[in-house]
Formats: sequence, C-alpha cells, structure tokens
Amino acid sequence: MPSESNLEALRKEVRAITNEIMRLVGLRLSLTEKIDKVKRSMRLPIVDYRVERDLKSSVIDACKRYNVDERFGLRILNLLIEEAVRVQKSSMDESERAISVMGMFSLAKRMEKEGKKVIHLEVGEPDFGPPENVKRAACDAISRGFTKYTEPSGISHLRESIAEYVNERHRIDVSSEQIAITSGGRFSIYASILSALSQGGEAIVIQPAWPAYIDCIEAISGRAIVLKTKLEDGWRPDLESLSNLVNDFTEMIVINYPNNPTGKVLESRDMKALVDLAKDRGITILSDEVYSEYSFKPSHSILEFDGVKSICASSFSKSYGMTGFRVGYAISDVNSIRKISRIQALASTSVPEFIQYAAMEALKCKDDVKRYANSVRRRVGLVCKELSKMGLSYYEPDGAFYVFPKIGKDDSFNAGKFALDLLKEKSVGVAPGTTFGDYPDYVRISACQSERSLLEGLERIGEFLK
Ligand code: PLP
Repeated sequence: MPSESNLEALRKEVRAITNEIMRLVGLRLSLTEKIDKVKRSMRLPIVDYRVERDLKSSVIDACKRYNVDERFGLRILNLLIEEAVRVQKSSMDESERAISVMGMFSLAKRMEKEGKKVIHLEVGEPDFGPPENVKRAACDAISRGFTKYTEPSGISHLRESIAEYVNERHRIDVSSEQIAITSGGRFSIYASILSALSQGGEAIVIQPAWPAYIDCIEAISGRAIVLKTKLEDGWRPDLESLSNLVNDFTEMIVINYPNNPTGKVLESRDMKALVDLAKDRGITILSDEVYSEYSFKPSHSILEFDGVKSICASSFSKSYGMTGFRVGYAISDVNSIRKISRIQALASTSVPEFIQYAAMEALKCKDDVKRYANSVRRRVGLVCKELSKMGLSYYEPDGAFYVFPKIGKDDSFNAGKFALDLLKEKSVGVAPGTTFGDYPDYVRISACQSERSLLEGLERIGEFLK
C-alpha cells in the first residue's frame, strides 16, 4: 500500500542518484581538463568526431542496456560534449579566441566616436540603401494605415509575389503556401533549424561559414559537425569526406552559395551529388541563398531539385540594400512552412505590415538590383586586383560581396590579432578568418564600400603588411 513515508524514501533515493550524477559530471569535466592539456601539448584540435562517434555508439548501447530512451540519452551526451568543448575553449588565451564581426564593428564604431576615420571592410552591409521606390512604398504604407499585425506567415500578396519571382527565376512551381515571411534571413535560418533539427541531432556545416549557423544549431542543442574546405581546392567541399561524416544522426546539411566569406558558387555536378546524398539518406538541406542576386556565374537554387527535403532561406537585406528593414523568407514544403510560421508567431507575431509592403515594392525594382550587382562585381574585381598586387593568394569570387585572402605566411600568424592591430594602427576594419572556422591565416574583406574607400583601405593594409 503506497504511503507518505514510501514517497519520501523514493524521493530521497532520487536526490541521492541526482547528486551522484553531478559528482560524475564533475569527475568527467576534470578529466576533460586533463585531456585538454594533453591535446594542447600535441597541438591537436579540441573536437574529434571519430571519438565523438565512438562515444555516441557506446551511449546508445548503454541506453539499450538500462532501458533509457536513446534520443534522451543522446541529448544528455550532447550537453556533456558541449560543456567539455566550452571548458577547453575557455582555457584558450584571449589571442586564440575568435573576435566576431560585430565585435570588430563595435570597436571600429568606438574609434569613430573618438574622432578616427575608420574604413569599414569588416561588415557585410551594402553602402547603397534601398531603392527610392522602396523607401516611398514604406512611407506610403504607413500613411495608408498598414501599421498592423499580419498573419505570422506574412501577407498573402507578398508571398504570392515571392512565389512568382522564384518561379520565374528558377523555372519552378512553388505556391504561396510554401513561403513564410520572416524577420530577416537570420530568423529564417534560425526558425528553419529549430523546426527541422532535433535536440541532439547532427547538422553538417561546410566551413568557412557564416558563424550564425553553428550558433543556431548549438542554441537548440543540436550538434554542428564541420566539414572544412580549403583554398587550394577552390573551396570545393570534398564529397567523399562529406559522405563519411553522414551517419544515422545526421538530420541536416547547411549550404550557402554564393558563399560568405569565400565568394564560392558550387559547381552543378557537386550540387547534384550533394543533393543525391541528402536524398538517399533523408537529410534536409538548408540552403542559405541570401547572396543569390550577387552571382557572377550561374548558380543553382536548392528549389530546382525535386525529391529532396529542403528549406531555402533568403532575404531582402543584401539584394535590395534593406538590411535594417529586417525582412526575409523561407521556402519549403507546406508542413515545414507551417512550423516556421509558428516560430515566427511565437517570437514576434509577424514582420511589420508596412515593411512587407516595402518588400513587395522591392521585388519590382529589377533595374536597381542589376545596378547593385554590377557595382558589387566591379568592387570585388578591384579588391582582387589590389590583393594580387600585394602578392596574396585568394579565390576569385564567383559571387557574394567578399574576398577571403590568405594573409598569414606561417604558423605564428593570428588573424584576430592582425585584425585588431590593423584597426588600431591603420583604422581599417576586416573580419578575421577565425570568425568563419579554423582559418587563422585568413581575413575577410567586404566590398560593400565605395571604390575610393576600398582603395584607401587596401592601400593601408598593404602598408601594414610591409
Ligand atoms: N546569411 C548570410 C550568409 C549572411 O552573411 C547574412 C548576413 O550577413 C545573413 C544570412 C543574414 O541576413 P539578414 O540581414 O537578412 O538577416
């Protein structure tokens, strides 16, 4: 017969087990610190996927043995791995840690307040604002009273206009129900990851990459698995290595072409092979296509491929110079779009109504988009020419608005330190390669400024490198 004292005894036991788990976690972390010391002395990377995979298999066996749900067991393992990585990263000294692009930007802004003239080659924000018609449309929409909430997925007119635009551009047939309007490309990516990746699920990220993918994956307790690409290979992902990373826990592959920071566009055959791999294994491809209007050679959208689970994330920020409007969108199957819209509703109800009217107008500004793309292409060309004069190696971009040159010549080079010193001594901001992955020899130069500013900035970089 259950009794009050029975319950108390059981609770006592649960408390003792919980404390025992904490004791073991503490013990595990102290071992992590020891492993960190050994790895540092051997110059080994913090993360080793082979070891992680072994651990995962043994956790699954243990779950079976002790009758624990496997997904739950893997979520706990993920937490333990994350904490171990955090402990190992926290033992890095300041100079080893990656400074973010926004960190560089804030420092540069502080220097400007102190009266310095800083050349901003660190941020990916076009200097041209939105087209005049877009500004007018936003003001008109406010005057006409379009200042209300809308349905979370966005007003149907805008979704229909986007469907028309992508259908014409990629010769496809998506419907407005397959589109959700989001607070910028960033939220489209966050909501896509949150909707499609389970806690403990793995998402492969091809680096160098915009850091938000890993941040979002980790924020929802997913596990980011990195596939590194190299300048020597033209930043081409090695598909065999990619396929070796795929396992039963892989739920997503994140791609971004034209790429930030390399400017790479994936060749058709690689895109096809990647899609086939995802199709075979039932993996979702999240394709970030925010730079698709800045493509200097034909580039494929994930929307062109049938039979693969995919989410295409895009935005008005880059194509139309509308970074501050915070409007983007996601395109996927109707079910995924419902989930993404629910997340949009949860986080911010909807994108403001008048902003959506401005976005509708933007889709009509085809000439402005062409003008912006031509101007960016010229600027990227100019940056490349100046980098060549300095004798630096880089991949000549196929798109986007960045160049990612290799600056370091030996192991002692530290991109973060270089970027900070360059900012302090020459008042030029660049984004260190470590922001985008394990690229301590590289910096990202953003071609979003006038040609005059770019030339002056590059001249100062040249002087600094002498
Ligand atoms: N994706 C990539 C690759 C980016 O570089 C950025 C911004 O820099 C974004 C998405 C986010 O753009 P948005 O301003 O639309 O949030």
